[in-house]
Amino acid sequence: MSEDAPAPQPRPTFETLVSRAMKLRCPRCGIGQLFTGWFTMPERCSECRFKYERASGYFLGSTYINYGLTAVSLTAIYFALHFGMGWSNRQLAAPLAVFCVLVPMLFFRHARALWLALDCHFDASVLASDD
Ligand SMILES: [Zn+2]
Repeated sequence: MSEDAPAPQPRPTFETLVSRAMKLRCPRCGIGQLFTGWFTMPERCSECRFKYERASGYFLGSTYINYGLTAVSLTAIYFALHFGMGWSNRQLAAPLAVFCVLVPMLFFRHARALWLALDCHFDASVLASDD
């Protein structure tokens, strides 16, 4: 092992991985930033050199998380406003259309961070690899 290699770290718990994801931090060290812009990820962690995008198209799975959150929250809001408060479909159409565009954009980074955290939880070998 060279002197530049990071020291081995204990495997983070699921709660730690989710906490780091919510803070948009590296799942391995919890220090490096996952994003340098709203939609821009660096290739590797600035602190521990952990590679974020494991393979081409790796983050496609995060769209399931993003879609799921949008669909569930949209359905809940629709039922609450339509059946609970009596808003008509005509009144709801435009605001909910805006909701369907904004929520995935706002949740984009956290969906990716959660996807990465889940991958690290279910396949801990990912955390040990620098490739
Ligand atoms: Zn890191």
